Amino acid sequence: MDGPATGRARLSRLVLIFLVVFAGVFGAVIWAKLQMEWTSARAEAENRQARSAAFIAESVSGRLSEIRGALGFAASSLSRPVDEPEQLAIVQAITASSYVSGAALWLPDSAPLTAGRLPSDLAAAADAALGGPQWVAGITGESAHVVLAAPVPLPDGRVGTLLAFASPSELVSADGAARIAVLTDAVGRTLALYPEAPVSGAPLAAERFGLQSADVRALGDSGGGAMTGARLGETEQVLGVARLRDAPLYVYAVGPAGLDAVAWNMTLIFHALLFFGPLFTAIAFYVVLLMQTGALKKAEARLHDSERRFRLAIEGARCGVWDWDLETDAVFITDSFARMLGLADAASMSGADFLQLLSNEDRSRLRTAIRAASRAEEVDLEVRAQNLAVWVQMRGRPLAIDGAGPGRRLVGVAIDVTERKGAQKRVLAAETRLRAALESMTESFALWDSRRRLVLWNRKFRDFFNLPEGSLRPGMAYEAVEAAAAGSIADVHTSENDGDSYQMELNDGRWLHYSERQTADGGLVSVGADITLLKQQEGELRDNQERLRQSYNELEASSQQIRELAKSHHEEKLRAEEANRSKSEFLANMSHELRTPLNAIIGFSEMMQKQIFGPLGHDRYIEYAGDIHNSGGLLLSLINDILDMSKIEAGKLTLQTEPLDPAAIIEQCIRIVGARAQEKNLQLRAECGDLPEVEADPRALKQIMLNLMSNAVKFTPDGGRVIVRGFEAADGIVLQVADTGIGIAEEDLPRLGRPFEQIENQHSKSYQGSGLGLALSKSLVELHGGELRIDSVLGKGTTISFTIPRHQVQPEGNGHDDAGAVTEAAE
Ligand code: ADP
Repeated sequence: MDGPATGRARLSRLVLIFLVVFAGVFGAVIWAKLQMEWTSARAEAENRQARSAAFIAESVSGRLSEIRGALGFAASSLSRPVDEPEQLAIVQAITASSYVSGAALWLPDSAPLTAGRLPSDLAAAADAALGGPQWVAGITGESAHVVLAAPVPLPDGRVGTLLAFASPSELVSADGAARIAVLTDAVGRTLALYPEAPVSGAPLAAERFGLQSADVRALGDSGGGAMTGARLGETEQVLGVARLRDAPLYVYAVGPAGLDAVAWNMTLIFHALLFFGPLFTAIAFYVVLLMQTGALKKAEARLHDSERRFRLAIEGARCGVWDWDLETDAVFITDSFARMLGLADAASMSGADFLQLLSNEDRSRLRTAIRAASRAEEVDLEVRAQNLAVWVQMRGRPLAIDGAGPGRRLVGVAIDVTERKGAQKRVLAAETRLRAALESMTESFALWDSRRRLVLWNRKFRDFFNLPEGSLRPGMAYEAVEAAAAGSIADVHTSENDGDSYQMELNDGRWLHYSERQTADGGLVSVGADITLLKQQEGELRDNQERLRQSYNELEASSQQIRELAKSHHEEKLRAEEANRSKSEFLANMSHELRTPLNAIIGFSEMMQKQIFGPLGHDRYIEYAGDIHNSGGLLLSLINDILDMSKIEAGKLTLQTEPLDPAAIIEQCIRIVGARAQEKNLQLRAECGDLPEVEADPRALKQIMLNLMSNAVKFTPDGGRVIVRGFEAADGIVLQVADTGIGIAEEDLPRLGRPFEQIENQHSKSYQGSGLGLALSKSLVELHGGELRIDSVLGKGTTISFTIPRHQVQPEGNGHDDAGAVTEAAE
């Protein structure tokens, strides 16, 4: 994404560098050009000054030649014999030239003839001139002169010398180019200066301009030229120099070194334009480029933005884009489409390769669709990815490029429709289930849309209203269905309470409970339930209800009676309990009161029987005394039993337990009962293994054993057998008394163990007893925490077993006040 931006930045940098380099190079070129201009301007100035110097030198030479001509003419005139005045006239004639200030004729041995202004030291001047080449010399001194000399061959054979003195300032006139013209002598001293100026300062003219005189002369000797660097004050000047053709004199022409300011300014402006013009143009181009780049950047950013939005939208919508070039059969798919098909990212591939990504059956379909699309048709196809549970809807159309017409390229989107497919499937399944559920309903069902058009119905609906199959169609109007169903409805009964539902009586005798309810979307649901049975039952129910009401009234009356009975029962019970308690108290008191006289009866009857105080006289008395003793004993035992029983019933009997050996107790009891057994010729024996110690009340245990064993002996006829057994049980011991006696009828067994219960039958009639023994034994066993059980077969024998736990659980608040009762009873 950064590519174009970086490219642009690099380009603008390059352009900037180019701009700088261009400005540098172009500046350098302009600068060189200016230098050249400057140099050529300088050379021009030098040329001008050189030319000016040469010109001035030429004019000075011309004037000197003129003087020389006049000198020659005078000399030739003098070579003839002339008198002195004539000679003087000839000399004066020389001075007629405007350049000549004075003339002199130097004759040997005579005073010189002079005319005009002459230097004071004439002789020296003549020497200088005659000594110098070309007979010309420049003389300096208080007044500068140029001296020309010419030999004069006199007629008498002698040689005189004719001298002409020229005023240097007359000789020199400046040329246009030179601002200053200077005439110097051979050494370089100033002879004349034009324009006039006092000859002052440096003795040598060159030094006056800041130059080396020798250099200037050398330049003049070499044919003339010019040199820059001369100065006038601060101003640089060019000095041209030329040597006179035929005299050892030099002419300096000094002029300005600089260019013409206006021309130079114009040059400068021109070059500045030449430099800045393209530079500004380039900068302007650069700025335009930058602006363009900025605009491009913005456009690119916008494009990038919109592309990103487009991509986000496409990806967000689980879409991809595909592009199929039909000419080259190349396919391009975007990232998101590629991912749908199981590829990592966007890819270009051949059409055949692309088809390989789709399931086998979809390949030819897509190929056909693509071919059809080349004939300007749209593609819209759902295809499945190969080996993936992904469904994709490919939609596209031919792309017309530059009016080339469709058919060459197809572009389209690919939408992931897997979820939709799944949802469709689920909807279908749900619909199927719904239909099945509706069909299995025992009620009729019909659904109408908000415009009361039939949407759904079940078989029961058709069945109730006797509508043939195919007569109903989705979209049928409610009224039409109603009209079709009306024929099978005999009557409609509306209910006041429920406006939405009513009962219908059908022609075939069936009854319907029909209800219509609004759905949330404004539709209507009609449900009809067959209530024929209900209607029938309704009648029965009414009868039943009537009967029920009667029964209820009767019941109400009965329950009143029961309540009253219960009340009286409760009162009776209270009374009975009261009576029972009084009975127990009475019995206890009675027993106690009876025992005292009984003891006297038993004691005295025994004494009488044993005739302790002397014989009774008659055997009958002894026999009666024995009867009294026996009856008294029985009575005492009965009273004891009653006492014990009533104590137990009153809850006042408590045990005094201690660890004991049950075998020892069994042995004692066998000894006690043994005598009676022997009397009846009964076999009595104990069959006990090793019995463990148990915690029990020894007297109670003995009483239980004695009761059971006495009963066994009592109810076993002569020659019978009584066996006492003992076993160790899980938590204690089991003791058993088995006999071969008269037995007890099965129906009598439940009654036994209750106080005063005796079995009256032909066997037992002959036996004495109180009916308390078993009850007492049972109670005592239960007081120990054991159980008593009677097994008996009438006529065969009886086995009574009981258990005694190994340890006793001591009840809290155990008192010992009445412990003696058990003891007494045992005695
Ligand atoms: P009783 O003093 O009458 O023996 P019990 O309470 O000891 O009083 O016995 C109640 C009744 O149970 C007896 O009258 C008898 O009918 C019956 N009975 C008790 N033990 C035996 C037995 N071993 N064989 C037959 N009947 C028995």
